Amino acid sequence: MARRICPRCGSRNTAIILRGMPVWSLELQEKMAKGEVVVGGCCITDCDPTHHCNKCKIDFNRPTGEMEMRVKQVHFSPGGYHGGYQDLTIIKTGLAIVARYYPPYGNPELVEYEKELSFNEWMNFLHDLFRCYITDWKQEYVDKNVLDGTQWELTIDFDEGMKLRRYGSNDYPPHWKKMLAVFKKYEILG
Ligand SMILES: [Zn+2]
Repeated sequence: MARRICPRCGSRNTAIILRGMPVWSLELQEKMAKGEVVVGGCCITDCDPTHHCNKCKIDFNRPTGEMEMRVKQVHFSPGGYHGGYQDLTIIKTGLAIVARYYPPYGNPELVEYEKELSFNEWMNFLHDLFRCYITDWKQEYVDKNVLDGTQWELTIDFDEGMKLRRYGSNDYPPHWKKMLAVFKKYEILG
């Protein structure tokens, strides 16, 4: 059985969470013994996570549609001591959704620009972004053994003052490349 990668720690030692009253069988017992399946209680809501990591003991993969609707601003700044920082802010107002990009200081190959997103593009972008499991990431990915190197920060502002912040220094979450591909897909970074 192919196991899903934990979006927090990258382990493949993950299980599917069974909800409700599972029908007991030898097969189910074996899967539970191997840690492929955990039984997650019978309370089923719309925001229950579907998977569990046996290594870092978190549940992951909650539906995020409702959160996506409430996003007001996305800010992403990958960069580093040597190459400088890129800075992307996408703001949703009552009038428009605008992405503003600032290249690293002193890099003549990248230019500053503004791009307007349609409401559909914005919602698709957010959905793709949340499908990188950003809500399941650790708050910080830090490798203390590297000096300088690269730092990055992702912050998302929701209505009612809620905020999600993820930060890294020379270390990255398992779905980092997938997330960079999302920014590329909508042509809003670099
Ligand atoms: Zn994990």
